[in-house]
Amino acid sequence: MEHCDCLIIGSGPAGLGAAFHLTENNPGIKIIILDKEKVSSGGLRNDCKMNFTFPTGFPLEYWDPEGAEELFPEMFKYLHPEIMTSKNFSIYQRRAERLGVQLMEIRQAHFGTDGGIILIRELVKKLKSRGVIFSLQEEMVDINRESLFVITDRREITFKKLIIAPGRRGFAFLQKIMDKLEINYIDNIVDIGLRIETREENYPIVRDYYDPKFHFPGKVRTFCTNSRAAYVVKEKYSGRHDNEYFSVNGHAFSEKRKRSGLVNFAMLKTVGFTRPLASGQEFAEMLGQQAMLMGGGKPLMQRVGDFRLGKRSNGESFTGDLYDFEPSLKSCTPGDISLAAPGKIMRYIWKAMKMLDTIVPGLLHPATIMYYPEIKLYANKPEFKDEYFQVRDNIYLIGDGAGTSRGITGAWASGIRAARGILKSF
Ligand SMILES: Cc1cc2nc3c(=O)[nH]c(=O)nc-3n(C[C@H](O)[C@H](O)[C@H](O)COP(=O)(O)OP(=O)(O)OC[C@H]3O[C@@H](n4cnc5c(N)ncnc54)[C@H](O)[C@@H]3O)c2cc1C
Repeated sequence: MEHCDCLIIGSGPAGLGAAFHLTENNPGIKIIILDKEKVSSGGLRNDCKMNFTFPTGFPLEYWDPEGAEELFPEMFKYLHPEIMTSKNFSIYQRRAERLGVQLMEIRQAHFGTDGGIILIRELVKKLKSRGVIFSLQEEMVDINRESLFVITDRREITFKKLIIAPGRRGFAFLQKIMDKLEINYIDNIVDIGLRIETREENYPIVRDYYDPKFHFPGKVRTFCTNSRAAYVVKEKYSGRHDNEYFSVNGHAFSEKRKRSGLVNFAMLKTVGFTRPLASGQEFAEMLGQQAMLMGGGKPLMQRVGDFRLGKRSNGESFTGDLYDFEPSLKSCTPGDISLAAPGKIMRYIWKAMKMLDTIVPGLLHPATIMYYPEIKLYANKPEFKDEYFQVRDNIYLIGDGAGTSRGITGAWASGIRAARGILKSF
C-alpha cells in the first residue's frame, strides 16, 4: 500500500493552492495529487478567467473581505495574472442603478482556454520540482471508513491528511463519500438558467468590460461572460444514481486566437429550498433529465425571436435572414425552452434579460440564442469542524464541490486555508 503525508484528490485550483502552500512551508512533505483526467478539468483548463475582487467566487458563509483579500498576494505569486482594464463603467452602472440592478466592478485576468493549459503545465512543473507526485488519470472511487485509506481505480493509498477537492463535476461523488463517512451536509441551493449567445455588436459592453457581472432583483445574475474567441460547450454530469445529463457552459480562447465574433454568458437564477428540504442536486438532475428527454438526449436551444412569439425553434430558425449567425454549439436541439424550464425561473430570467437589454441595447435581437439548461452545483454544505474546512479528523473538503468556493480564486484560497490547518496540526 502506498503512503503519503498528504493525499490531494483533484488537481484543480483548490488542490494546487493547497499543494503550493504546503510545499512552501514544509518542503519535506510527501504529497500525492490524483486526478481522474489527463489535465485539471475545471476552470483553470476552460477559459481561465480569474476574479480578484471579494465577494466574487467567495461564498459569504465562509469568507469575509479581509480573510479573502489577504490571500490574493500569494495567488499573484504563482498565477501571474495580468489585470485587465475596463472602460465606461460608470455609464453602464448608472443605467443599471436606475433599474435597481447592480453592476460589480471586478479586477479580472483572462488566460483563455489555451493560456490556461500553459499555466497548468507551469504549475504542475513547479510542484514536481518541489517533490510533489502527480498521478493523472487515476480516480478515487471509495474510502475505507474504518482504517481510512483511499481506494482508487488502481490501488490503495494511506495518508496522514486527506484533501478532497473534486470540483462541481465531483458533486455527486462527494455526497457519496460524505454519506459513507457520516458527515452531515445540506445542498438546498442550486443555480439554474440559460446560456445566452449573440453577436458581439448586440452586446458591445464586452469591448469595455470583459466579464460584466450584473446582479438583478430576484437573485438572477450574469455569470461567466466569454467573448472574442468564444464558444458554447456542453458538459456531461453524472447524478447520484449514475444517471447522466448535460449542462451547457461557455469558454473562450486567448486573444491570440481567431475571433468568433460571438459573445456568450450565463443568466442564472439562484433557487433555495426550505422545508420540506429538497436536494439541490436532485432538483437539478431532474431538470437536466427533463431537458434531455425533450431534446432527444441533447440540450435545447431557442432563438429569442421565437421565444418572444411563444413558438418553438426548429431547423429553419437557424438559417438566414434575421437569424444571422450559426450556434457555436451544434449538438443541441432546436425547441421550446419554456416547456422544459420551470415557469417561475423563466419569468425571473426573462425579466432580467429585458432589463439587461435596456442597459446594453441589442441583447434581445431575434437572433440571440438561449441554450438550456445551464446548471451550477456548488452548494454542498458539509458540516465543517473548524475554519480550515476539516470535516473529520485529518480529512478536508474544499473547492466548488464542497461549496467553499465559486471560482478559481476562491478555490485556490480554500486550498490555502486547508493547508494552513494541516500545517498547524503537523
Ligand atoms: C467549462 C468551465 C469553465 C469555467 N470557467 C471559469 C472561469 O473562467 N473562471 C472561474 O473563476 N471559474 C470558472 N469555472 C469554475 C471553476 O472551474 C471552478 O470554480 C474551480 O475550478 C473550482 O476549483 P476546484 O479545484 O474546486 O475544482 P476543479 O477545478 O473542477 O478541479 C477538480 C478536479 O478534480 C478531479 N476529480 C474529480 N473527481 C475526482 C475523483 N474521484 N478522483 C480523482 N480526481 C477527481 C477533476 O478531474 C478535476 O480536475 C469554470 C468551470 C467550468 C466547468
